[in-house]
Amino acid sequence: ATQPGTALDSASVAAFARAQEVIPGGVNSPVRAFRSVGGTPRFIARAKGPYLYDVDGNELVDLICSWGPMLLGHAHPEVLDAVMSAAQHGTSYGAPTEAEVDLAAAIIDRTPVEMVRLVSSGTEATMSVLRLARGITGRDKIVKFAGCYHGHVDSLLVSAGSGVATLAIPGSPGVTEATTADTIVCEYNDRAAVREAFATYGDQIACLITEAAAGNMGVVPPGVEDGAGFNTFLAEICREHGALFISDEVMTGFRVTASGQFGLDGVVPDLMTFGKVMGGGFPAAAFGGRAELMHSLAPVGGVYQAGTLSGNPVASAAGATTLRLATPEVYAHVDRAAALLQREVADALGKVGVPHVIQTVGNMFSVFFVGEDVEAVPDYATASTQVTARYAAFFHSMLDAGVYLPPSAYESWFLSSAHDDRALDRVVSALPAAAAAAAEV
Ligand code: PMP
Repeated sequence: ATQPGTALDSASVAAFARAQEVIPGGVNSPVRAFRSVGGTPRFIARAKGPYLYDVDGNELVDLICSWGPMLLGHAHPEVLDAVMSAAQHGTSYGAPTEAEVDLAAAIIDRTPVEMVRLVSSGTEATMSVLRLARGITGRDKIVKFAGCYHGHVDSLLVSAGSGVATLAIPGSPGVTEATTADTIVCEYNDRAAVREAFATYGDQIACLITEAAAGNMGVVPPGVEDGAGFNTFLAEICREHGALFISDEVMTGFRVTASGQFGLDGVVPDLMTFGKVMGGGFPAAAFGGRAELMHSLAPVGGVYQAGTLSGNPVASAAGATTLRLATPEVYAHVDRAAALLQREVADALGKVGVPHVIQTVGNMFSVFFVGEDVEAVPDYATASTQVTARYAAFFHSMLDAGVYLPPSAYESWFLSSAHDDRALDRVVSALPAAAAAAAEV
């Protein structure tokens, strides 16, 4: 390719070659490697506001925002101040701090949970919350949905077997069949499958975990049937069977509204997980719920969970400051920007006759390059019918024009309060060529 940044003599190409010598695939998280869109990943040197700057000096409008966390844009001055003054006082103590209490209180303020335990990644949050749910209920089985990602926890890193509500099969070498035998996988938004799972295994099910709104198969909102939202249905069926309902708001939390998906449907889960925005770009995540449930955790209760860097003072300062700055104006701005881009993308693709479906949850949205006959994407089976080559062509055209989209067709686009008219105009003016590139596939 001859485009800037991925030309053969570019600094990104050299950095990627060096990276592949020392890091498997050259990346520390697989999607960054551009495997599903092809080409060479851009190596990033710095970021400011809505822009990433790669090692060749190209300015890219960032529509990933670190996969969600950067709600205020990159290098926000007040967040940086908080980080710097925290770091000057030392970066980790292994003893309690007021900063972590402030972050916990800010999370509780915005969500229905009464207590939280802080951890360092979303994976750790979901792993820990499953242990807690199993410890409390004394049951082994869990229910999850195909296409929902909750981090690389063994028992959640599974694929659906055949049938409606099936015991999972390992989703990766290294995950044992014994582990997945306790995981039941249903299609998202499939109430009949969930009913069948509970009818078959009800008294063995410790918990059901769902993304509060799905964002990891592309954006798939919880559906409404007969006036009842999917999350309401899930909460009720869990209660009927004595299972705990876990809403994973790692991606949606503090992003799609001040609280998260909870701000959209008001469903109160038994337990919740958080990450991304609440860490302000640092490794911080959390799980929480009613005090009576959270008191089952050590040192109060018997369920063990711990972490050397949990509640890290620098991460806590970044997170608490980010939440303090995430005002209604911030959400209003991001919502408006997301709505504008959705209209413009639909318009550009419509003009050249590329079939697509755009789905949104608050200010998160995805463009699915599905066939003409598909009107909505309610689940992973439908998301999987995408013509991914069309997305790849679209993606690379946008990248050539200085717009950094998620390098996979199965992801949300993310915006920030720093995405101003200049940045949005850049995206909009890149769309016609990208739509034309998609039309050629
Ligand atoms: N849950 C959800 C809903 C997520 O989107 C993610 C990450 N994309 C995780 C859990 C895992 O978080 P982490 O990558 O911080 O381990």
